Amino acid sequence: MKHEIVNGLELPKVGFGTWKIGGGASADHRSDKKSLAALLSALELGYTHFDTAEMYAGGHAEELLGQALRDSGIRREGLFITTKVSPEHLDYTSVLAGCEASLGRLGVEYVDLYLIHWPSRLMKLEESFRALNKLVGDGKVRHLGVSNFGLSLLERSRELSETPILTNQVPLSMLDRKYVRNGMLAYCQANAIVLTAYSPFEAGKFRASRVLADVAKRYSATPHQIALAWLCNQPRVITIPMSFDAAHQSENIDAADISLSPQDLAQLGQTPASGTRQ
Ligand code: NDP
Repeated sequence: MKHEIVNGLELPKVGFGTWKIGGGASADHRSDKKSLAALLSALELGYTHFDTAEMYAGGHAEELLGQALRDSGIRREGLFITTKVSPEHLDYTSVLAGCEASLGRLGVEYVDLYLIHWPSRLMKLEESFRALNKLVGDGKVRHLGVSNFGLSLLERSRELSETPILTNQVPLSMLDRKYVRNGMLAYCQANAIVLTAYSPFEAGKFRASRVLADVAKRYSATPHQIALAWLCNQPRVITIPMSFDAAHQSENIDAADISLSPQDLAQLGQTPASGTRQ
């Protein structure tokens, strides 16, 4: 599995998303068996980065992830766990309480990465970062990041964070290139910030174009794999597809190792990558 190396930290190019694990906007315990099986197969396949949020299934995604991590017996140090604080919890006290609650549901002493899930019109970013910096200082969070932030909010976050902002998690896929067009990807690449591409399959709406199908054939890969490889071949980009299906999970993790030629990258509509390790 290829990694993105930033400030000495190695992040797997492909991680595992957990939206829909344990329910949707709220918990749905009827899907627990299916959700746990998906998490355990991902762990067996070698996924080490898991992306969740206090919002997912009303906290139940974190609970199931915690249970799967314990059931797998995998060492905590070998895993990279990301979770997110919701926009309605961005005042000082709520950030601290939100993180404590997430740690409790996950059953871990610390998370590797803690993100502001979405900006809110009401948030006072200075106050939020006062709490986030404290969480890092207290050892409850290893790294800080943001999600769905535009350029000016990301710049402000970098000023307020006492540790480097590790990532901005935003939608990016073959079909949705808004964050390339608006300069976010270039900004992240120029400033040692990882861009975590969420919904790499447009939350299931992905359909292969003719070009994608042609490229896939040349690599004996599936179009879904080429869509992920297109992301993984770009410097500073990692991605977090979600799948309940072990065969799809396996395809997705393998896609990280597909090296696309500069010609194929260009054909897929991207300036050739200059390399992924630095
Ligand atoms: P994805 O874009 O990852 O798409 C998931 C869908 O793709 C599922 O229907 C899945 O079906 C299908 N799929 C996955 N792999 C394959 C494959 N190899 N072949 C065919 N179909 C496949 O959706 P998400 O929106 O869930 O995004 C991924 C993660 O990003 C989320 O789980 C979450 O962690 C994060 N996210 C973050 C957001 C934020 O605001 N920060 C917002 C949205 C997502 P199947 O199960 O059958 O494989």
